Amino acid sequence: MVSQSAASTSTPSELSTPINKTAHEFDKPTLDALLARRFFFAPAFEIYGGVAGLYDYGPTGSALQANILDQWRKHYIIEEDMLELDTTIMTLSEVLKTSGHVDKFADWMVKDVQTGEIFRADHLVEAVIEARLKGDKEARGVKHEEPEKEEDEKKKKKKKNVKSVAIKLEDSVVEEYESLLAQIDNYTGPQLGELVRKHNIRNPTTGNELSEPVEFNLMFESNIGPTGQIKGYLRPETAQGHFVNFARLLEFNNGKVPFASAQIGRSFRNEIAPRQGLLRVREFTMAEIEHYVDPLDKRHARFNEVKDVQLTLLPKDVQTEGRTELTQMTVGDAVAKKIVDNETLGYFLGRTQLFLEKIGIDPKRLRCRQHMANEMAHYAADCWDFEIQSSYGWIECVGCADRSAYDLTVHSVRTKQPLRVQQKLDEPKKVEKLDVQFDAKKFGMTFKKDATLIKETLLGLEKDKLQCIKDELANGKSSVKCADGKSYEITPDLVKIDPITVTEHMREFTPNVIEPSFGIGRILYSLLEHSYWAREQDKARGVLSLPSIVAPMKCLIVTISQDPELRAKIHEISRKMRRIGIASRVDDSSASIGKKYARNDELGTPFGCTVDFASIKNDTMTLRERDSTNQLIGKIDDVIEVVDQLVKGTIDWSGASQRLEPYSGVQDVEE
Ligand code: AMP
Repeated sequence: MVSQSAASTSTPSELSTPINKTAHEFDKPTLDALLARRFFFAPAFEIYGGVAGLYDYGPTGSALQANILDQWRKHYIIEEDMLELDTTIMTLSEVLKTSGHVDKFADWMVKDVQTGEIFRADHLVEAVIEARLKGDKEARGVKHEEPEKEEDEKKKKKKKNVKSVAIKLEDSVVEEYESLLAQIDNYTGPQLGELVRKHNIRNPTTGNELSEPVEFNLMFESNIGPTGQIKGYLRPETAQGHFVNFARLLEFNNGKVPFASAQIGRSFRNEIAPRQGLLRVREFTMAEIEHYVDPLDKRHARFNEVKDVQLTLLPKDVQTEGRTELTQMTVGDAVAKKIVDNETLGYFLGRTQLFLEKIGIDPKRLRCRQHMANEMAHYAADCWDFEIQSSYGWIECVGCADRSAYDLTVHSVRTKQPLRVQQKLDEPKKVEKLDVQFDAKKFGMTFKKDATLIKETLLGLEKDKLQCIKDELANGKSSVKCADGKSYEITPDLVKIDPITVTEHMREFTPNVIEPSFGIGRILYSLLEHSYWAREQDKARGVLSLPSIVAPMKCLIVTISQDPELRAKIHEISRKMRRIGIASRVDDSSASIGKKYARNDELGTPFGCTVDFASIKNDTMTLRERDSTNQLIGKIDDVIEVVDQLVKGTIDWSGASQRLEPYSGVQDVEE
């Protein structure tokens, strides 16, 4: 039998403790202290006082982010054969003008009319109304049933500096407030202004009145070149880099859709009030997919693989009725019942659920919230956010939108480049069509710079829509809604629509785009909260139960004494591990073995190998599993092989237990 020396490598209390991850209530200050102590991330330029919304990741945070991104690349880019891109951050202003960002990428802000203090309008309304509801509960002596949730609320209030005051509200007001909160993302700027007036919302600190909401563009402006004649912006998303390269991507894919492009990169948003740590920052890593699909066929070839994946849904009609209850449903049912618009969108919801679960997000704290009418861009066919619950509440971490043909159409119209797919028909087809003819001169004079956009829009309309316009024109006038969100009136002297029969050999169309867009920092932080717990016997002994595929380090290697021979041994083991690609870390400090394990637990390192004098004698070492603290023992090379398989996920701990022998820490050295 292989055995180790009598010196136990576990602290005595660890040996037989069953895992109880909920012995202590989640304690954010302790987690924050751990993340700072172990340098997951820290405010950027901290020694200069820092800047709100800018963070640096340390060695642990960087490795965790790199591992999440590595899993993301494998799960999407490699598994689905996506075309990867790395496009520039500095973006030509014209591109963002065309995409609508220059005019519309804005949040609504309100100002304290006396002090000039600025608030994001929706966040302030939400915080004040939540505080009033909480005050009402206090006045009624209602004790909150969910302590964790109440804790969340408390922290939110503190962050937004809105204190609750115990004042009882009329029942009808409570109902109105609850309905308002369920729809908080659905209000336009002017509607937020009405809410501020109607509910007498003021600066919570000064009590002063607030201005009407005004739009604040979130992009960082810049100038390109020494004379600054070329205007640019730091990109607010990576998506436009995909669209402007569409023609090359299509050619690369032999002119065929569907296919997807994918990109991981930095984006920048000048948030009005960055807060909530990594959740609302001014510079962050995004991972975005643009999947191009035939507008007439949004099925997905691999839909069957995800149709049984369970989603937790919060559909739009539930929210607009002022409710928030969640529905469990498979992807297949959600698409069949038309709750999710189409198969391809459903496919990405299923794949994203699997990805988030794989990296360690708790599925019980994950939901898909559908955008309500006002929230959704006018051109979008459907949009769902994956929201993850943390101590900050439910936060959007991934947006999945069907953006229709909007992006490719606007860039094509602006640049006059055909961003369209041509599909050869199997057999020539006689087609009854509606032919659109323009009086070019009059049309140009009437619509001037908008003429091309209106023309392209009319030419791109499907037959039934054109028929409606034709019928309306017969009565004197009609209108056409374009991708800029405006409706343009047209009359029979400008446009004629007549039936014709044509023989078609080719079909030409602008693909629709389904876009899953991931905010990596938000996912990373939520994962840290979901992974954190404290040992039952000691609240201060925090553990990060990160899955080994994303853990910053996979294996800790320690020795029980400072003996030079043992120290040499652990470095030799570390070299062996690194040679086969296991990220391992030697701790040869003079700290006690218990301290070394505690440090290891805080770093989220899933495995620990310990050598002692028996290792020299018997060529053995022990292997410890972070969460259970259970230990196994085996020959050094066997243990390394088992660690390799554990890290790759080809075996789990019970598989490891079949390969190695149990170790209680009390066996004697084999003679
Ligand atoms: P959006 O384009 O606004 O739908 O954002 C896409 C994703 O980027 C969101 O789902 C978030 O995960 C992330 N995100 C957006 N804004 C921020 C921000 N200020 N800080 C961190 N992540 C963000």
